[in-house]
Amino acid sequence: MEEPSQSPNREEGSCMAPHNPPSIEALEFPQILMGIHAMNLQEQSHQSLSKEEESKFTLLMKVAFSGGTIKTHSLSTVQQTMGRAWRSNYYKITQVNQYIFKAHFRSFEAMMAVFTRQPWSVSSDTLLFELDSSKNTTVQKECHKFESIYVTIRAYGVPVTNRSLKVLKDILELVGMQSEFHELRQVMITSRPDYIWGIARMRVHTPVLDRVRLRFTETQSGIAYLHYEKIGRICLFCGVMFHTSQNCNLRQQIIIEKLELGQSAQDVPYQRFGPWIIDPDQVPNNFDVHGPGSNPIFSTFKNPHISRFQKVFELPQAGKEILEETATTS
Ligand SMILES: [Zn+2]
Repeated sequence: MEEPSQSPNREEGSCMAPHNPPSIEALEFPQILMGIHAMNLQEQSHQSLSKEEESKFTLLMKVAFSGGTIKTHSLSTVQQTMGRAWRSNYYKITQVNQYIFKAHFRSFEAMMAVFTRQPWSVSSDTLLFELDSSKNTTVQKECHKFESIYVTIRAYGVPVTNRSLKVLKDILELVGMQSEFHELRQVMITSRPDYIWGIARMRVHTPVLDRVRLRFTETQSGIAYLHYEKIGRICLFCGVMFHTSQNCNLRQQIIIEKLELGQSAQDVPYQRFGPWIIDPDQVPNNFDVHGPGSNPIFSTFKNPHISRFQKVFELPQAGKEILEETATTS
Protein backbone atom coordinates (compact mmCIF):
# COMPACT_ATOMS: atom_id res chain seq x y z
CA MET A 1 0.00 0.00 0.00
CA GLU A 2 1.29 3.44 -0.88
CA GLU A 3 2.11 6.01 1.72
CA PRO A 4 0.41 9.38 1.43
CA SER A 5 2.77 11.66 -0.46
CA GLN A 6 2.32 14.50 1.95
CA SER A 7 1.08 14.62 5.45
CA PRO A 8 0.12 18.20 6.21
CA ASN A 9 -1.66 17.32 9.40
CA ARG A 10 1.17 16.83 11.81
CA GLU A 11 0.10 16.61 15.38
CA GLU A 12 1.58 19.17 17.66
CA GLY A 13 2.28 18.82 21.36
CA SER A 14 0.17 16.33 23.21
CA CYS A 15 -0.70 18.90 25.86
CA MET A 16 -3.13 20.57 23.51
CA ALA A 17 -6.83 19.96 23.45
CA PRO A 18 -7.95 17.30 20.98
CA HIS A 19 -8.93 18.59 17.62
CA ASN A 20 -12.39 18.11 16.21
CA PRO A 21 -13.11 16.48 13.79
CA PRO A 22 -10.90 13.68 15.00
CA SER A 23 -8.03 12.32 13.02
CA ILE A 24 -9.45 10.15 10.30
CA GLU A 25 -6.43 8.89 8.47
CA ALA A 26 -6.29 5.26 9.46
CA LEU A 27 -3.13 3.59 10.67
CA GLU A 28 -1.29 1.24 8.39
CA PHE A 29 -2.21 -2.42 8.76
CA PRO A 30 -0.92 -5.35 6.81
CA GLN A 31 -3.12 -5.66 3.74
CA ILE A 32 -4.11 -9.20 4.50
CA LEU A 33 -5.65 -8.23 7.82
CA MET A 34 -7.63 -5.55 6.12
CA GLY A 35 -8.91 -7.96 3.54
CA ILE A 36 -10.20 -10.19 6.30
CA HIS A 37 -11.69 -7.24 8.10
CA ALA A 38 -13.52 -6.04 4.99
CA MET A 39 -14.85 -9.52 4.30
CA ASN A 40 -16.14 -9.87 7.83
CA LEU A 41 -18.02 -6.60 7.58
CA GLN A 42 -19.65 -7.64 4.36
CA GLU A 43 -20.65 -11.04 5.61
CA GLN A 44 -22.14 -9.66 8.79
CA SER A 45 -24.23 -7.16 6.92
CA HIS A 46 -25.61 -9.68 4.45
CA GLN A 47 -27.35 -11.26 7.36
CA SER A 48 -28.79 -8.10 8.75
CA LEU A 49 -29.86 -5.76 5.95
CA SER A 50 -32.54 -6.22 3.30
CA LYS A 51 -32.03 -5.04 -0.28
CA GLU A 52 -34.16 -2.01 0.39
CA GLU A 53 -32.23 -1.09 3.50
CA GLU A 54 -29.01 -1.55 1.61
CA SER A 55 -29.72 1.29 -0.79
CA LYS A 56 -31.19 3.60 1.79
CA PHE A 57 -28.14 5.26 3.26
CA THR A 58 -25.61 5.60 0.52
CA LEU A 59 -22.90 8.06 -0.44
CA LEU A 60 -21.29 8.36 -3.83
CA MET A 61 -17.57 8.87 -3.78
CA LYS A 62 -14.96 9.68 -6.33
CA VAL A 63 -11.22 10.20 -6.27
CA ALA A 64 -10.55 13.95 -6.52
CA PHE A 65 -8.52 14.90 -9.55
CA SER A 66 -7.73 18.19 -11.25
CA GLY A 67 -4.53 17.72 -13.23
CA GLY A 68 -1.74 15.30 -14.10
CA THR A 69 -2.46 11.65 -14.67
CA ILE A 70 -5.69 10.38 -13.19
CA LYS A 71 -5.13 7.52 -10.81
CA THR A 72 -7.64 4.73 -10.56
CA HIS A 73 -8.07 2.71 -7.40
CA SER A 74 -9.41 -0.80 -7.35
CA LEU A 75 -12.57 -1.65 -5.48
CA SER A 76 -10.60 -3.81 -3.06
CA THR A 77 -8.19 -0.96 -2.26
CA VAL A 78 -11.09 1.39 -1.53
CA GLN A 79 -12.84 -1.29 0.52
CA GLN A 80 -9.76 -2.02 2.56
CA THR A 81 -8.87 1.59 3.21
CA MET A 82 -12.33 2.74 4.12
CA GLY A 83 -13.08 -0.42 6.09
CA ARG A 84 -10.09 0.38 8.21
CA ALA A 85 -11.11 4.00 8.70
CA TRP A 86 -14.86 3.63 9.09
CA ARG A 87 -14.96 0.37 11.04
CA SER A 88 -18.51 -0.66 11.76
CA ASN A 89 -20.01 2.55 10.41
CA TYR A 90 -20.25 1.25 6.92
CA TYR A 91 -21.97 -1.75 5.52
CA LYS A 92 -20.31 -2.26 2.16
CA ILE A 93 -18.70 -0.46 -0.76
CA THR A 94 -19.59 -1.14 -4.36
CA GLN A 95 -18.22 0.22 -7.60
CA VAL A 96 -20.35 2.26 -10.00
CA ASN A 97 -17.79 2.84 -12.73
CA GLN A 98 -14.05 3.26 -13.10
CA TYR A 99 -13.98 6.38 -10.94
CA ILE A 100 -17.11 6.32 -8.81
CA PHE A 101 -17.85 4.12 -5.82
CA LYS A 102 -20.85 3.80 -3.59
CA ALA A 103 -20.66 3.43 0.16
CA HIS A 104 -23.63 1.82 1.89
CA PHE A 105 -24.23 2.51 5.58
CA ARG A 106 -26.24 0.86 8.29
CA SER A 107 -28.01 4.01 9.39
CA PHE A 108 -28.48 7.68 8.60
CA GLU A 109 -26.27 8.52 11.57
CA ALA A 110 -23.48 6.29 10.32
CA MET A 111 -23.69 7.84 6.86
CA MET A 112 -23.62 11.38 8.19
CA ALA A 113 -20.73 10.59 10.53
CA VAL A 114 -18.66 9.86 7.44
CA PHE A 115 -20.05 12.67 5.31
CA THR A 116 -19.38 15.36 7.92
CA ARG A 117 -15.89 14.17 8.80
CA GLN A 118 -14.30 14.80 5.43
CA PRO A 119 -11.76 14.76 3.97
CA TRP A 120 -11.10 11.04 3.61
CA SER A 121 -8.39 9.65 1.44
CA VAL A 122 -7.32 6.51 -0.31
CA SER A 123 -3.57 6.25 -0.49
CA SER A 124 -2.56 9.89 -1.11
CA ASP A 125 -5.73 10.73 -3.02
CA THR A 126 -8.60 12.65 -1.48
CA LEU A 127 -12.13 11.35 -1.94
CA LEU A 128 -15.07 13.56 -2.88
CA PHE A 129 -18.52 12.70 -1.60
CA GLU A 130 -22.06 13.31 -2.66
CA LEU A 131 -25.31 12.20 -1.10
CA ASP A 132 -26.76 9.62 -3.42
CA SER A 133 -29.92 11.07 -4.88
CA SER A 134 -30.04 8.75 -7.85
CA LYS A 135 -30.82 5.63 -5.79
CA ASN A 136 -31.68 2.83 -8.14
CA THR A 137 -31.13 4.57 -11.44
CA THR A 138 -27.85 4.15 -13.27
CA VAL A 139 -25.32 6.72 -12.19
CA GLN A 140 -23.89 8.70 -15.04
CA LYS A 141 -20.58 10.35 -14.43
CA GLU A 142 -21.84 13.69 -15.76
CA CYS A 143 -24.78 13.75 -13.36
CA HIS A 144 -22.56 13.96 -10.34
CA LYS A 145 -20.35 16.94 -10.17
CA PHE A 146 -18.77 16.35 -6.76
CA GLU A 147 -18.44 20.08 -6.37
CA SER A 148 -17.68 20.54 -2.72
CA ILE A 149 -15.67 19.16 0.14
CA TYR A 150 -15.61 19.88 3.87
CA VAL A 151 -12.19 20.99 5.01
CA THR A 152 -10.80 21.99 8.38
CA ILE A 153 -9.12 25.36 7.95
CA ARG A 154 -6.42 26.60 10.28
CA ALA A 155 -5.76 30.31 10.47
CA TYR A 156 -2.35 31.04 11.95
CA GLY A 157 -1.28 34.35 13.31
CA VAL A 158 -4.46 35.73 14.82
CA PRO A 159 -3.34 37.21 18.17
CA VAL A 160 -5.22 35.82 21.17
CA THR A 161 -6.59 39.26 22.02
CA ASN A 162 -8.11 39.59 18.55
CA ARG A 163 -9.67 36.16 18.34
CA SER A 164 -13.42 35.89 18.11
CA LEU A 165 -16.00 33.63 16.50
CA LYS A 166 -16.80 36.50 14.17
CA VAL A 167 -13.21 36.62 12.89
CA LEU A 168 -13.32 32.85 12.41
CA LYS A 169 -16.64 33.01 10.60
CA ASP A 170 -15.36 35.75 8.30
CA ILE A 171 -12.32 33.67 7.40
CA LEU A 172 -14.45 30.61 6.65
CA GLU A 173 -16.79 32.68 4.49
CA LEU A 174 -13.83 33.97 2.53
CA VAL A 175 -12.38 30.57 1.72
CA GLY A 176 -15.74 28.92 1.11
CA MET A 177 -18.81 28.71 3.28
CA GLN A 178 -19.05 27.93 6.94
CA SER A 179 -20.03 24.27 7.20
CA GLU A 180 -23.73 23.73 7.79
CA PHE A 181 -22.87 20.74 9.96
CA HIS A 182 -20.30 22.24 12.31
CA GLU A 183 -21.32 24.91 14.74
CA LEU A 184 -18.68 27.47 15.61
CA ARG A 185 -17.52 26.80 19.13
CA GLN A 186 -15.31 28.63 21.57
CA VAL A 187 -12.80 25.76 21.58
CA MET A 188 -12.01 26.57 17.94
CA ILE A 189 -10.52 29.91 18.90
CA THR A 190 -9.03 28.98 22.26
CA SER A 191 -7.62 25.44 22.06
CA ARG A 192 -4.49 26.19 20.06
CA PRO A 193 -1.87 28.77 20.90
CA ASP A 194 -0.83 29.34 17.30
CA TYR A 195 -4.01 29.02 15.26
CA ILE A 196 -7.78 29.16 15.24
CA TRP A 197 -9.68 26.58 13.24
CA GLY A 198 -13.06 25.88 11.74
CA ILE A 199 -14.69 23.78 9.05
CA ALA A 200 -15.66 25.18 5.67
CA ARG A 201 -17.53 23.76 2.72
CA MET A 202 -15.24 24.54 -0.18
CA ARG A 203 -15.85 24.40 -3.89
CA VAL A 204 -13.34 22.02 -5.37
CA HIS A 205 -12.64 24.00 -8.55
CA THR A 206 -12.13 27.33 -6.81
CA PRO A 207 -8.58 28.33 -5.83
CA VAL A 208 -7.88 28.42 -2.12
CA LEU A 209 -6.47 31.50 -0.38
CA ASP A 210 -3.11 31.24 1.29
CA ARG A 211 -3.62 34.23 3.58
CA VAL A 212 -6.08 36.92 4.43
CA ARG A 213 -5.55 40.33 5.89
CA LEU A 214 -7.66 40.92 8.95
CA ARG A 215 -8.57 44.31 10.25
CA PHE A 216 -8.87 44.13 14.00
CA THR A 217 -9.45 47.77 14.81
CA GLU A 218 -9.36 51.07 12.95
CA THR A 219 -5.58 51.09 13.04
CA GLN A 220 -4.61 47.46 13.64
CA SER A 221 -4.44 44.76 11.04
CA GLY A 222 -2.64 41.48 10.62
CA ILE A 223 -2.25 38.57 8.27
CA ALA A 224 -3.74 35.17 8.94
CA TYR A 225 -1.99 32.33 7.15
CA LEU A 226 -4.32 29.57 6.08
CA HIS A 227 -3.67 25.85 6.13
CA TYR A 228 -6.01 23.20 4.77
CA GLU A 229 -5.89 20.06 6.86
CA LYS A 230 -5.50 16.71 5.13
CA ILE A 231 -5.65 18.10 1.62
CA GLY A 232 -2.36 16.64 0.55
CA ARG A 233 -2.20 18.28 -2.86
CA ILE A 234 -2.90 21.92 -3.57
CA CYS A 235 -1.30 23.57 -6.59
CA LEU A 236 1.12 26.25 -5.44
CA PHE A 237 0.77 27.94 -8.83
CA CYS A 238 -3.00 28.22 -9.31
CA GLY A 239 -4.29 27.36 -5.85
CA VAL A 240 -6.68 24.64 -6.99
CA MET A 241 -6.82 21.49 -4.87
CA PHE A 242 -5.89 17.99 -6.03
CA HIS A 243 -2.94 18.58 -8.33
CA THR A 244 0.59 19.91 -7.94
CA SER A 245 2.19 22.82 -9.78
CA GLN A 246 4.24 20.26 -11.69
CA ASN A 247 0.97 19.09 -13.27
CA CYS A 248 -0.79 22.45 -13.47
CA ASN A 249 -2.64 22.85 -16.76
CA LEU A 250 -2.83 26.61 -16.33
CA ARG A 251 0.90 26.92 -15.80
CA GLN A 252 1.58 24.78 -18.84
CA GLN A 253 -0.78 26.86 -20.96
CA ILE A 254 0.99 30.05 -19.93
CA ILE A 255 4.38 28.57 -20.81
CA ILE A 256 3.17 27.40 -24.20
CA GLU A 257 1.60 30.75 -24.92
CA LYS A 258 4.84 32.52 -24.08
CA LEU A 259 6.94 30.13 -26.17
CA GLU A 260 4.60 30.59 -29.11
CA LEU A 261 5.12 34.32 -28.83
CA GLY A 262 8.86 33.73 -28.94
CA GLN A 263 9.30 34.77 -25.32
CA SER A 264 11.26 33.08 -22.58
CA ALA A 265 9.16 31.10 -20.15
CA GLN A 266 11.87 30.86 -17.52
CA ASP A 267 10.13 33.45 -15.41
CA VAL A 268 6.96 31.40 -14.96
CA PRO A 269 7.28 30.28 -11.34
CA TYR A 270 6.19 26.98 -9.83
CA GLN A 271 5.07 28.68 -6.71
CA ARG A 272 2.77 31.63 -6.27
CA PHE A 273 1.00 30.48 -3.13
CA GLY A 274 2.58 30.10 0.27
CA PRO A 275 3.67 26.49 0.88
CA TRP A 276 1.97 26.53 4.30
CA ILE A 277 -1.35 25.77 2.60
CA ILE A 278 -0.12 22.18 2.43
CA ASP A 279 2.59 22.24 5.10
CA PRO A 280 1.84 24.05 8.36
CA ASP A 281 5.52 23.91 9.32
CA GLN A 282 6.13 26.56 6.67
CA VAL A 283 3.81 29.17 8.14
CA PRO A 284 5.85 32.37 8.50
CA ASN A 285 6.49 32.99 12.16
CA ASN A 286 6.04 36.72 11.99
CA PHE A 287 2.73 36.96 13.78
CA ASP A 288 2.92 40.60 14.75
CA VAL A 289 -0.07 42.79 14.37
CA HIS A 290 0.81 45.64 12.10
CA GLY A 291 -0.18 49.20 11.77
CA PRO A 292 -1.77 50.47 8.60
CA GLY A 293 -0.22 49.30 5.37
CA SER A 294 2.65 47.33 6.79
CA ASN A 295 3.31 43.68 6.41
CA PRO A 296 6.58 42.73 4.80
CA ILE A 297 5.62 39.07 4.37
CA PHE A 298 2.51 39.90 2.48
CA SER A 299 4.41 41.81 -0.15
CA THR A 300 7.30 39.39 -0.61
CA PHE A 301 4.98 36.87 -2.17
CA LYS A 302 3.76 39.30 -4.78
CA ASN A 303 5.54 38.25 -7.92
CA PRO A 304 5.84 41.09 -10.45
CA HIS A 305 5.20 38.70 -13.35
CA ILE A 306 1.97 37.51 -11.92
CA SER A 307 0.00 40.69 -12.41
CA ARG A 308 0.72 40.39 -16.10
CA PHE A 309 -0.46 36.76 -16.15
CA GLN A 310 -3.44 37.69 -14.12
CA LYS A 311 -4.59 40.10 -16.78
CA VAL A 312 -4.15 37.62 -19.59
CA PHE A 313 -5.40 34.48 -17.87
CA GLU A 314 -7.50 35.88 -15.08
CA LEU A 315 -5.39 34.16 -12.49
CA PRO A 316 -6.74 34.03 -8.99
CA GLN A 317 -4.93 36.01 -6.35
CA ALA A 318 -3.09 34.04 -3.77
CA GLY A 319 -4.02 36.24 -0.85
CA LYS A 320 -6.86 38.52 -0.11
CA GLU A 321 -6.99 41.84 1.59
CA ILE A 322 -9.95 42.08 3.85
CA LEU A 323 -11.93 42.22 6.14
CA GLU A 324 -14.63 44.74 6.62
CA GLU A 325 -15.86 44.73 10.19
CA THR A 326 -14.05 41.93 11.92
CA ALA A 327 -13.15 44.03 14.91
CA THR A 328 -13.18 42.66 18.40
CA THR A 329 -16.94 42.57 18.93
CA SER A 330 -18.64 39.25 18.36
ZN1 LIG B 1 -2.56 24.48 -10.85
